[in-house]
Amino acid sequence: MEQRVDIVIVGARVAGASLAILLGQMGKRVLLIDKASFPSDTLSTHHLSHVHYLEKLGVREEVESTGLRKINRMRTYVGDSFVEGPRDFYTIIPKRSHLDDVLLTKACSNEGVELLESCTVKDLITDEQRVIGVEAVDKTGETKRIHASLVVGADGRHSFIAENVQAGKYGFHSPQRPVFYGYYHGIEPLTEPTTEIFLNEGRIGFLFPMEPGIDCLGLEVHSEEFKEMVKNSHKFKEIYQSFYGMEKRLQRASLQGKIVGTPGVPNFFREPAGEGWALIGDAAHSKDPSTGLGINDAFMQSFLLAEAIQKHDEGRSWDHVMAEFKQKRDEQLEPGYRLTLDYIQSMRPWSRDEKALFQAMAANPMVWNKIVPHLPDLLKEHSSSLPELYGSVEWEAKNFGFGRNENTFIE
Ligand SMILES: Cc1cc2nc3c(=O)[nH]c(=O)nc-3n(C[C@H](O)[C@H](O)[C@H](O)COP(=O)(O)OP(=O)(O)OC[C@H]3O[C@@H](n4cnc5c(N)ncnc54)[C@H](O)[C@@H]3O)c2cc1C
Repeated sequence: MEQRVDIVIVGARVAGASLAILLGQMGKRVLLIDKASFPSDTLSTHHLSHVHYLEKLGVREEVESTGLRKINRMRTYVGDSFVEGPRDFYTIIPKRSHLDDVLLTKACSNEGVELLESCTVKDLITDEQRVIGVEAVDKTGETKRIHASLVVGADGRHSFIAENVQAGKYGFHSPQRPVFYGYYHGIEPLTEPTTEIFLNEGRIGFLFPMEPGIDCLGLEVHSEEFKEMVKNSHKFKEIYQSFYGMEKRLQRASLQGKIVGTPGVPNFFREPAGEGWALIGDAAHSKDPSTGLGINDAFMQSFLLAEAIQKHDEGRSWDHVMAEFKQKRDEQLEPGYRLTLDYIQSMRPWSRDEKALFQAMAANPMVWNKIVPHLPDLLKEHSSSLPELYGSVEWEAKNFGFGRNENTFIE
């Protein structure tokens, strides 16, 4: 079968489906192809902090309609102590089967957008150096040849499109840490929905409240622990029970389904465009999930690519709009990339003295009375090689009133 569209998008999850929504709204004829069928899950937890992207894509209400809790607080544990505070905007934890399906339904509600599911792209169609389409095989074994002005690889970090166009990689760091997660019913909740992060023994635990009564528990462990975690299904819960308060909170909880995981996620950028092709989402940029940014980043790249395509339609050269796309993409992704790499590379067990002193300080209000005014300077000084850490704190603090004139509201 032969078909012609404006744009083929390979991969129909957060990157591909969000781009299809935007291109559909621009009046493009778009074919989304995915080897998966939908709704379906993929290996990913669901921390989604930039909810404004859902609003801009017109799907926020639908994504939240399953009763997702709006999480306004974050708590970080160090040993048996913790610090907790509000976030400037709420986070949600939608299951990927739901999120991806809502995005796809929205995309396909556009007349010009069509989805081919259970269909695997096996080859590129080229004309000399230029990509001009794809060849795909559906579940009946039929081969489809689809011609398009642009082929977008939104096909994940092992991207077939990227491999075949030989998109160059840069900023590469090998996978550092295995990640596991599972869904639990009945964990004793905190009074307010709160993302909980446990920094313990060089591991990172994350508790994501989803809907009432259901939480996603995740765990990043040391690379040498991977095999044992896979062999021993109780290890995950055992480690969780060692986190402060969790033995009791897990007493009435039950695991739904299985614990799943990966030995690690590679960290890299890929060249995002060439003649007749472009890459978005994990295909273009992949990183360790400990900072929970992959879904936001996929949306951000879709918006940038749609903007670039619009400019090209208005007459700007492809090379020019793609150079600008790459520059804006890297500017926006690099701070989060550096923060993520630093986070996972500097993670280690606390020494006994560090932990003991932190615990003693955490419980002492006189210490906090003395130290709060100096915390920003301490952070700046101790992260001088990572200025984006202080920058991100200051940026969020502005939403809590930082930098506003203290006397504004005083009569
Ligand atoms: C363990 C783990 C936890 C994570 N937790 C979070 C989190 O809490 N928050 C967050 O923001 N991010 C998280 N991430 C990252 C997040 O999952 C990714 O950034 C995100 O899924 C990228 O979306 P994507 O659409 O680019 O690719 P994907 O979600 O990987 O989708 C790619 C699609 O392409 C299809 N495909 C691939 N090859 C072909 C082909 N040849 N033909 C047809 N179809 C093809 C696949 O079937 C798939 O559906 C996590 C990742 C992992 C591994």
